[in-house]
Amino acid sequence: MSVDWLIVGGGIHGLHIAARLLGEVGVSRDRLRIVDPGDRLIARWRACTATIGMNYLRSPSVHHLDLAPMSLQRFARERKIRRGSGLFASPYERPALTLFNAHCDQVEETFGLADLHIRDRVTACSADCDGVGVELSSGRRIDARNLVLAIGASEQPEWPEWAARGNSRICHVFEPGFDEWPSSSETVMVVGGGISAAQLALRLVEEDHDVHLVSRHVLRQHQFDSDPGWLGPKFMAEFSQERDFGRRRAMITAARHRGSVPPDVRQLIRKAIAREQLEWHEGEVTGFRERQRAIDVALSTNAIVTADRVLLATGFASRRPGGSMVDELIASASLPCATCGYPIVDSMLRWHPRIFVSGPLAELELGPVSRNIAGARRAGDRIVDAARTGSLEVAELT
Ligand SMILES: Cc1cc2nc3c(=O)[nH]c(=O)nc-3n(C[C@H](O)[C@H](O)[C@H](O)COP(=O)(O)OP(=O)(O)OC[C@H]3O[C@@H](n4cnc5c(N)ncnc54)[C@H](O)[C@@H]3O)c2cc1C
Repeated sequence: MSVDWLIVGGGIHGLHIAARLLGEVGVSRDRLRIVDPGDRLIARWRACTATIGMNYLRSPSVHHLDLAPMSLQRFARERKIRRGSGLFASPYERPALTLFNAHCDQVEETFGLADLHIRDRVTACSADCDGVGVELSSGRRIDARNLVLAIGASEQPEWPEWAARGNSRICHVFEPGFDEWPSSSETVMVVGGGISAAQLALRLVEEDHDVHLVSRHVLRQHQFDSDPGWLGPKFMAEFSQERDFGRRRAMITAARHRGSVPPDVRQLIRKAIAREQLEWHEGEVTGFRERQRAIDVALSTNAIVTADRVLLATGFASRRPGGSMVDELIASASLPCATCGYPIVDSMLRWHPRIFVSGPLAELELGPVSRNIAGARRAGDRIVDAARTGSLEVAELT
């Protein structure tokens, strides 16, 4: 099979970029495909957000996957007639997850993206100046004139060192295929200090479990996971002028409010603590002992909590995603990387004349918002520009 555009990864980023290429550049549907192992597009997004019981997105309603900036609000207005209110949370008109997902379905349907989804995994890529040869785990091969690597971090959940994998009572809620949700009333320990852990704990409280939330730090409050100034020139001007990628990495790390929660979630957690529906522990897990029907978890506070299960909501590992497929591509095509291991790309997000990146792989160019929905839109802007100009010469990288 040969295509003009092959998108690797059918998550939030892959879906948006596909819509942009079809809807704005006029790429023909039979010349574009999306490869993703999920049984449908954005399957990882749906699984992760459903598991933690997220009701509203953290980001505002202008961050969505359609082309027109006000598309989600328009979509909501049409639905509100039939479904009543509660579709947005204030401040910043953050959409309900159900609304956001329904809107994603509509984008998928409008562009017929499900038919372009190849349910498979890319195992190897080899690039030359005419295009990229891609091998899939099924043994199929696709030749693509242009490749977009839209592989997010969602396949690499961060496991704390103490939490040995393979223990039946300790699970990571973002592990692909997670299905260890407690069915009857249990004592559950949630580990993590950010919005996912907080929302997960609140879902468990709502379902009448006895919940312990363990965080290494106090509840840090931030509306967004980075300052909105990173969406425009306020902070991005200085970031883009910085030619030292080590310093860019340091700026990204400093800008991210990792392990933080927005005010409404913080308030709900405080209420649950006050009502004794949730026990809060500020400390580290120092060890655990598995018993026949429970697990004893030791904390740095000297407390020992006995739980039926431990659910980790400790986010995703910060290493570059893509594993050996990306490692081998870097080696074979001599692709430039910064010392943090992440791609050095040009302003059009080209890592190679035929390879574009988005999401975590684009963050040294797009800054701290790169992994988010806003980052998908920024990546879409750059890739559309490159596709429209048709000029695929590599710009100066440094
Ligand atoms: C619980 C949660 C809530 C969030 N809420 C918000 C929010 O409110 N607002 C916001 O802006 N952001 C939010 N984010 C952050 C971000 O928008 C999401 O993580 C989003 O899903 C990232 O999309 P993605 O396409 O980059 O990555 P992913 O969702 O990880 O999708 C990438 C896809 O690529 C596939 N893939 C990987 N390797 C290969 C390969 N070799 N071959 C083929 N396919 C491959 C994966 O299987 C996956 O399906 C949230 C994240 C989480 C986890």
